[in-house]
Amino acid sequence: MTAAAAADRRGPEGNGFGLENLPFGVARLPDGSVTCVSALDTSVIDLARLGRAGLLWVPGVAADVFEEGSLNRFLACGRAAWEGVRGRIARLVQTGERELGRAFVPVSQVELLAPVAAGDFVDFSASVHHATRVGRLLRPDGDPLPPQWRHMPVGYHGRAGSMVASGTGVIRPHGQRPTGGAGPVLAPTEALDFEAEVGFVVGCGSTPGRPVPTAGFADHVAGVVLVNDWSARDVQAYESRPLGPFLGKSFATSMSPWLVTLGALEPYRVPGPVQDPAPPPYLRTDGPAAYDLHIDVTLQSETMRAEGMAPVQISAAAFAAMYWTGPQLLAHVTANGAHIRPGDVVASGTVSGPDAGSEACLLELTRAGERPLSLPDGSTRSYLEDGDTVVVRGWAGGDGRPLLSLGEVVGTVVPARPMEV
Ligand code: MN
Repeated sequence: MTAAAAADRRGPEGNGFGLENLPFGVARLPDGSVTCVSALDTSVIDLARLGRAGLLWVPGVAADVFEEGSLNRFLACGRAAWEGVRGRIARLVQTGERELGRAFVPVSQVELLAPVAAGDFVDFSASVHHATRVGRLLRPDGDPLPPQWRHMPVGYHGRAGSMVASGTGVIRPHGQRPTGGAGPVLAPTEALDFEAEVGFVVGCGSTPGRPVPTAGFADHVAGVVLVNDWSARDVQAYESRPLGPFLGKSFATSMSPWLVTLGALEPYRVPGPVQDPAPPPYLRTDGPAAYDLHIDVTLQSETMRAEGMAPVQISAAAFAAMYWTGPQLLAHVTANGAHIRPGDVVASGTVSGPDAGSEACLLELTRAGERPLSLPDGSTRSYLEDGDTVVVRGWAGGDGRPLLSLGEVVGTVVPARPMEV
């Protein structure tokens, strides 16, 4: 089932924001106040209001922890608090608590903001299909996977300060790119791309010098968000020798508004793929370590929007097929003794699968522009044009099991700003 079909369903499975979900987010309410919220069906729930009424009392959670512009302070309270508050909300719904009715606001009347003030942002490349396909494009004559790839997850530290809420316009970035003989120029990118990813959000920090074992994952990670790691491929290719991604990635990274907790995702935990060779001991996991999530991507050009054409789906991928799992990514981030803090985001990397249509970025979908996509408005795309809107959606279940929505992360490309240099 596609996300569109899933989102349109209002049967027993609901819209993916039923009592099984109860995610956490931050919203600007119609009166202008900003508060931590949860979601049920088509409403948000004002958690600050419930907190003031004394209805969310859970050991270790201060009454005013929801009266913040981010979830960070609440997330730092720990796993018992995350699941305890979800349990309290569910009971308030089931008992028909009157004050709860006053805490409901239609989601159409609020502005959903970024759920966390991101601390550190780490981005991995955990899909073997993405890594192999990109390796072939960049190094056609060599081994597409570098020799260490199956021994440890490969990643880089991104720029937390550029993480933006879903819906924020993405200004086409400038960067240096080669022109041939005349030397490089600083100019707007001609190869703007998206990367559909899943981000693990740290709730509980760790201690410097104490790596987080894979078994400690659920004590530290509160849940997941969807991430779009916007990328300027021409800038990235020119600057990334010998160091990793820098200005080609640092201009914007979008995150979805709902943090869906690991507790809500527990029924969708599945074994990860077989890893050969076996990873080193600190990266070994006991039990199912992957999550059975579906990710898809739609694109709508400015012309399509103007002519009333629906967005077209350009990618559909399975997160469960990622080679490296969340517990392994977090264990690797901390393996050298580096500690994590509330609000840190550890992203998976592009969620690309093996099949045609499961590539989760344009670099792969169009084979670096060699096979442009055709859009319903008659235009083609090698990379993104100004006015293009990219929506990354995610969900679990809907296949007989309860539908659990991760919501969506949306971004529209804004023309480059004139630069005086
Ligand atoms: Mn990425």
